[in-house]
Amino acid sequence: MTHIVIVGAGECGARAAFALREKGFDGDITLIGAEPHLPYERPPLSKEGLAGAEGPKYVASAERYEEAGVAVLMDALVERIDRDGKAVRLADGRSINYDRLLLATGARPRAFPGASETSERIRVLRTHADALAIRAALVPGRRIAIIGGGFIGLELAATARRLGAEVTLVEGLPRLLTRGVPEEIATVVAERHRHEGVEIICSAKIAALEDDGCEARVLLADGGCVSADLVIVGIGAIPNTELAEAAGLAIDNGIAVDETLRTSDPDIYAAGDCCSFPLSHSGGRRVRLEAWRNAQDQGTLVAANLIGGSEPVSSVPWFWSDQYDLTLQITGIADGAVATVRRDMEAGAFILFHLDGEGRLIAASGIGPGNAVARDIRLAEMLITAGSRPAPEALASPNTKLRKLLAA
Ligand SMILES: Cc1cc2nc3c(=O)[nH]c(=O)nc-3n(C[C@H](O)[C@H](O)[C@H](O)COP(=O)(O)OP(=O)(O)OC[C@H]3O[C@@H](n4cnc5c(N)ncnc54)[C@H](O)[C@@H]3O)c2cc1C
Repeated sequence: MTHIVIVGAGECGARAAFALREKGFDGDITLIGAEPHLPYERPPLSKEGLAGAEGPKYVASAERYEEAGVAVLMDALVERIDRDGKAVRLADGRSINYDRLLLATGARPRAFPGASETSERIRVLRTHADALAIRAALVPGRRIAIIGGGFIGLELAATARRLGAEVTLVEGLPRLLTRGVPEEIATVVAERHRHEGVEIICSAKIAALEDDGCEARVLLADGGCVSADLVIVGIGAIPNTELAEAAGLAIDNGIAVDETLRTSDPDIYAAGDCCSFPLSHSGGRRVRLEAWRNAQDQGTLVAANLIGGSEPVSSVPWFWSDQYDLTLQITGIADGAVATVRRDMEAGAFILFHLDGEGRLIAASGIGPGNAVARDIRLAEMLITAGSRPAPEALASPNTKLRKLLAA
């Protein structure tokens, strides 16, 4: 094998390129990305990276790609995969042959149905360019409406408040963070945002988003209206599967891969936000994760498999979110939990441990200031990996060290 081509120069694609070298691959590596920048970190875009004036926080410098012998093509959109000819075709007419191909095409924001995709007052957040445009509007007194009470909407709300903007957050469901976050934690988050001056409207049915050229409006089905200088839509992401689909690869809520991240074509792999895979810790259930560490872990793992390995995905999902001084961390997947145990910690921090019907720890979610829950969430992750069945009383007691449970 002499040439590995990676489509998608994000967190996962970049990690895979370096991991190929770390694992001894000495053939050619080409990393192709549609954005004008070298791969950069997305998490800061809704947090300090949005508030700051700096450029993107790059995954690695141009010199590091050069040293590693990774050819990086930026501003280069791959339009087609020719599986018979084993080549990718670029929008500028170039054609690049591969022996093995990795699709790390990520995801894009879900658009609000019917809303203008070219309006300057109705925006989404995924790229550095999106962040720059949003940043320009976050000034004291400016009215910002955020659609969606998920992580990106809430992080944006916190950043916008920090910069002095007035924020109204509109959520269609009865509470914030419905997907994957227990109600007890969502309540803490909502209270904190209200305390910081964010107006939160839940159970809102949005009839339309409008931009009349002077201001944007969120029209509610009950006749209400939220007027704003900027509306930011944060209603989830859609995996970029079109290339794979057009090439006839199996799709199932993302590019469908097996536990080694191989697609239905043995020479094509997929990893990161764009793929769905069977998660062993969740009984082999097919999941798609949109999480920074997953993109990194899968980038490393897929590199081994692209060059002949057959390592299965084994890491337990982990996700974090920062809002104000609060950090929320989640490990594992709580679907299927039949019991929840709460451990209270210092400074109002707490962790919820989620157990399945056999008493096995399957997930843990915690919230608190700064790093308050980080160490115990890390230990919970190790307990989940070990398939541990800790006694609920031990989990509940802050006097019982989780490290001890792990040793047991
Ligand atoms: C604002 C924001 C905040 C976030 N905060 C957190 C957080 O706090 N914690 C957390 O765990 N996760 C967070 N995430 C999620 C995390 O950033 C993603 O999970 C991660 O970036 C996924 O990496 P990826 O490489 O799979 O995809 P991406 O980062 O989406 O990279 C994919 C790249 O592929 C390119 N591409 C797609 N199609 C083509 C094509 N046909 N040709 C060429 N290039 C193509 C895209 O342009 C893109 O640059 C956040 C995401 C965003 C957007």
